[in-house]
Amino acid sequence: MARPKRPLAERIDRLAEWDENHHHHVWTGSTHHGRPRLKPEDKHPVRILLQVDDPRLFVRRVCSHPLCINPDHFKVQVTYDRKYDDRPPPVWVDPRTSDSDSFTPRELEEIQETVQFLLKDEGTFEELTEYHSEEMRQEIHRLWMHKSSPTQLTKP
Ligand SMILES: [Zn+2]
Repeated sequence: MARPKRPLAERIDRLAEWDENHHHHVWTGSTHHGRPRLKPEDKHPVRILLQVDDPRLFVRRVCSHPLCINPDHFKVQVTYDRKYDDRPPPVWVDPRTSDSDSFTPRELEEIQETVQFLLKDEGTFEELTEYHSEEMRQEIHRLWMHKSSPTQLTKP
C-alpha cells in the first residue's frame, strides 16, 4: 500500500477496451471465476468505479458481455445476509451523474441518442419523446437541460 499509485480509475481504464459500438467496456485484465478482478486490490473494477465499499453491497452486471465493466451496465444491490442483521442498512451514493441504473442498456442508448438529437435541434422535445415512457422523458429532459446550459442549473 505504501508505493505511490496511479489513480485507480485510470488503471482500470487502461485495462479495458471499448467494443466496436462503444457500448461495452471490455475488461482485458485478470479475472477470478470468469469475473473481472483488479489486482492487487482484489476487487471487481466496477466496485471501484462505483465506489462501492460495503461488503453487503454487490455489483450485478445487467448486459450481455461477461467481461463488460461499463458502470452503466451494472446495478448495485444489497445482499441480505443474516449475519448483518444487527447493522444499519448500507449507505451508498451513486456516483453516476444520472440515475441510469433504473434503465436498461437499450433504454440508456435511446436516451443518449434523443439528447443528441435535441442538442442538434433535430426535432422538438415533444416530437422526439412522443413514444417514450414518462421516466425516460424526464431523464432525457434532465440530461438535455444539463448539457445545453450546465452553468445555469437551478434546483427545482
Ligand atoms: Zn456491457
